[in-house]
Amino acid sequence: MLPSDGRFGSGPSKVRAAGFASLAAVAPGYLGTSHRRAGVRDVVGRVRQGLAELFGLPDDYEIVLGNGGTTAFFDLATFCLIENRSQHCSFGEFSARFAAAVKAAPHLAEPEILLAEAGRCCAPVANDAVDTYALIHNETSTGVAMPVTRPRHDDGTVAAGLVIVDATSAAGCLAVDLAECDAYYFAPQKGFGAEGGLWLAACSPAALERSARLRTAGRWVPPTLDLGVAAENSRLNQTYNTPALATLWLLAEQVEWMNAQGGLAWAVARCDTSAAIVYGWAEDSSWATPFVTASADRSHSVATIDFAEGVDAAAIAATLRHNGIVDVEPYRKLGRNQLRIALFPAIEPADIEALTACIDWVVGQL
Ligand SMILES: *Cc1c(COP(=O)(O)O)cnc(C)c1O
Repeated sequence: MLPSDGRFGSGPSKVRAAGFASLAAVAPGYLGTSHRRAGVRDVVGRVRQGLAELFGLPDDYEIVLGNGGTTAFFDLATFCLIENRSQHCSFGEFSARFAAAVKAAPHLAEPEILLAEAGRCCAPVANDAVDTYALIHNETSTGVAMPVTRPRHDDGTVAAGLVIVDATSAAGCLAVDLAECDAYYFAPQKGFGAEGGLWLAACSPAALERSARLRTAGRWVPPTLDLGVAAENSRLNQTYNTPALATLWLLAEQVEWMNAQGGLAWAVARCDTSAAIVYGWAEDSSWATPFVTASADRSHSVATIDFAEGVDAAAIAATLRHNGIVDVEPYRKLGRNQLRIALFPAIEPADIEALTACIDWVVGQL
């Protein structure tokens, strides 16, 4: 009754066997070669082109990449995107981490932080006193997703200011219209089933212009966190400093696989299917319930399931792990009697089904 693959972690997440087989096949001529030469630059080009296709990138937007993962992009945003004051939708560990990084930046004003408790969501509110709105498409720590839409004033006009979106566990899984934001940023080790260490961002002209203007105006920006430097290199299909070549390869393969299956619409539908399986199972169960009570807020890329008192989620997770089903433990700081299950496109919906049957069986035995 075991799933065909036991990896259900929310990041690093399952890397498809076809991805690492292709890496192994090209490794002798690829790994250990210069990232300034065609062999690697072609792969960066495939990543940028593949993501543009996947997202239906607006013509004047650019795919920019650099080293350091999403957390480095948080720091980059404090230097290159936020001019003075930002507003944050904060409803979990990752959105809180970004807000804290901004709060600690001595050159920025105190951010406006809109809070929702774990398991709930909040929306940005138009405010002429802020120049940047920070959204999170999917809060990986709680399994709450929010729509990506620009805040609007009461009269319906779009608020001025950049909209920047942490899409680390949403990109490639949840539907998005990139015209509704200025930077949609993520790392490859979640929805794209590749490795960590890289950040990628779909950037609007307004985001790139903001970054250039802040530097021209005299703001000190460390070169590794300079969006302009990253964009200059990305246009040449390079990174400013040396990237992990395996990460790039796995990402290129995964993005092309997703495009070949039918693109973002296909990936979204696949995540929807997995979400229907896991939430439907929990709703039918007498001892499992979706942690996120509002069904519209429930993530279709990372599901969080609470267990009734007397059903020990940690014991379930330990038993599953003993049987090769790994990383369904809840986000450590949330501290709930819960399992967290990734529903990313690399994961077979049939394996989600098998996982729920395994949980049922383990609970029966406990
Ligand atoms: C994992 C995650 C991060 C951190 O990503 P790193 O690449 O490890 O820095 C940030 N935000 C969200 C929503 C995440 O899921």
